[in-house]
Amino acid sequence: MRIVEVEKVSFDEVYEKSLRPQNLDEYIGQEQIKKNLKVFIEAAKKRGESLDHILFFGPPGLGKTTLANIIASEMGSNLKTISAPMLEKSGDLAAILTNLEDGDILFIDEIHRLKASIEEVLYSAMEDFRLDIVIGSGPAAQTIKLDVARFTLIGATTRAGMLSNPLRDRFGMSFRLNFYNHEELSEIIRLAAQKLSKEIESNAAVEIAKRSRGTPRIALRLLKRVRDFAEIKDENTITHKTTKYALDELGINEHGFDELDIKFLTLLADAKKPIGLSTIAAALSEDEGTIEEVIEPFLLANGFVEKTPKGRIATRKAYEILRFPAGSLF
Ligand code: ADP
Repeated sequence: MRIVEVEKVSFDEVYEKSLRPQNLDEYIGQEQIKKNLKVFIEAAKKRGESLDHILFFGPPGLGKTTLANIIASEMGSNLKTISAPMLEKSGDLAAILTNLEDGDILFIDEIHRLKASIEEVLYSAMEDFRLDIVIGSGPAAQTIKLDVARFTLIGATTRAGMLSNPLRDRFGMSFRLNFYNHEELSEIIRLAAQKLSKEIESNAAVEIAKRSRGTPRIALRLLKRVRDFAEIKDENTITHKTTKYALDELGINEHGFDELDIKFLTLLADAKKPIGLSTIAAALSEDEGTIEEVIEPFLLANGFVEKTPKGRIATRKAYEILRFPAGSLF
């Protein structure tokens, strides 16, 4: 089971990488972030300096890693990518930092998962481009100071709330990524289809967009599955008819909900009263942070859930979609 899952992820990763936009102009949406980044990149280039450290936060699949790649290419910098859980000891991070050159970009994904001892190494590196490494212990312990090149750290997290204050304060810029609207997702799908040398009818792209939970990663995966259906039918153009058939056949919810969304909404709808975060977390076997920062944002942004002082509550829209009788609630 695990192996299958791992293989599936890496296969998707290869597919995703091949579709990744290469520059800010190809990157659809997130207009405010792009505007700011353009200014910062231009200014840093003009001064011949490295960029300030940048933090991207927001739910998975919205384009944080993609932005890190684009920034590196726009700056003409080398990019070193690591995922925080890969780092076991502070020495692992020290080795990476001391190998960086001026202007290099270090991208740390899932930065909220850095161990505290490793995170501390990062503080002086980010602030003073210096490492204080303690060797040995007790009275014989020695601190060695090492210089680090003037690098830029780009951190990405789905869980901004879990970042410690000292770490958060050391980022010069921090950006929240938002969900994409249907037009933006349709455009991402259209461009991706072009890269895959496939035509797609515009209403087919919209149909996929609507079911993508505001998330480019989901849109691209659905496109891949729909393309398979079109190929089996020997269609050169991905039609609206085939798209709708494929998505229905695959059981993709017309609002883009995944299994957890449905469980979450059903729980709230069943309760017919506000439920607190800790109760929801226990019922879904998820931690509170994941519910607040990964599951809930899409449902709140689209008016399926409301936060009240007494807890979360399903809205009329949610009841309609779940085809639940709203009872005396409304
Ligand atoms: P995250 O790091 O936030 O989890 P990624 O950067 O890996 O998300 O994005 C997932 C995929 O979605 C990428 O491979 C990329 O192809 C696509 N993507 C994300 N954002 C955009 C965008 N704004 N425009 C075009 N494609 C995008």
